[in-house]
Amino acid sequence: MAGKRTFTMIKPDAVEAGNSGAIIKMIEEAGFKIVAMKKTKMTPGVAGKFYAVHSERPFYDDLKNYMSSGPIIPMILEKSNAVEDFRKLIGATNPKEAAEGTIRRLFAASIEANAIHGSDSDENAEIESSFFFSELERF
Ligand code: UDP
Repeated sequence: MAGKRTFTMIKPDAVEAGNSGAIIKMIEEAGFKIVAMKKTKMTPGVAGKFYAVHSERPFYDDLKNYMSSGPIIPMILEKSNAVEDFRKLIGATNPKEAAEGTIRRLFAASIEANAIHGSDSDENAEIESSFFFSELERF
């Protein structure tokens, strides 16, 4: 059976643009329950750790700077088939390729500043949730 939790964060461009409320509303209306949520800000070092899998990619340094450029809102979400359904709700990495009505299509500024993150597997959802939230917060 597919896992029931996924991890997301509203990225600095969407927080700065005042779109957090609209995005959280879409998430709740799509049937996801918010298990944990906070507002925080990463240093470039922390952002680099979160995106370590991309360390050899040409966009890595830009990504670290962008992801540490302002506050973010990390969340743990719960729903049946959470990982897959949430990836559908946010749309493709590049907002130009994201389907109509998806969060990235509606709110993303560019392929880098693309409004929101969504875990791509149950395993990564667990790793990313633990990255931001203590065991006590992941009840
Ligand atoms: N990214 C970027 N340039 C690219 C591809 C990705 O700046 O050409 C950024 C973008 O913010 C993306 C993040 O790196 O969300 C992680 O990339 P990934 O391929 O894992 O996409 P995602 O899983 O977020 O859709």
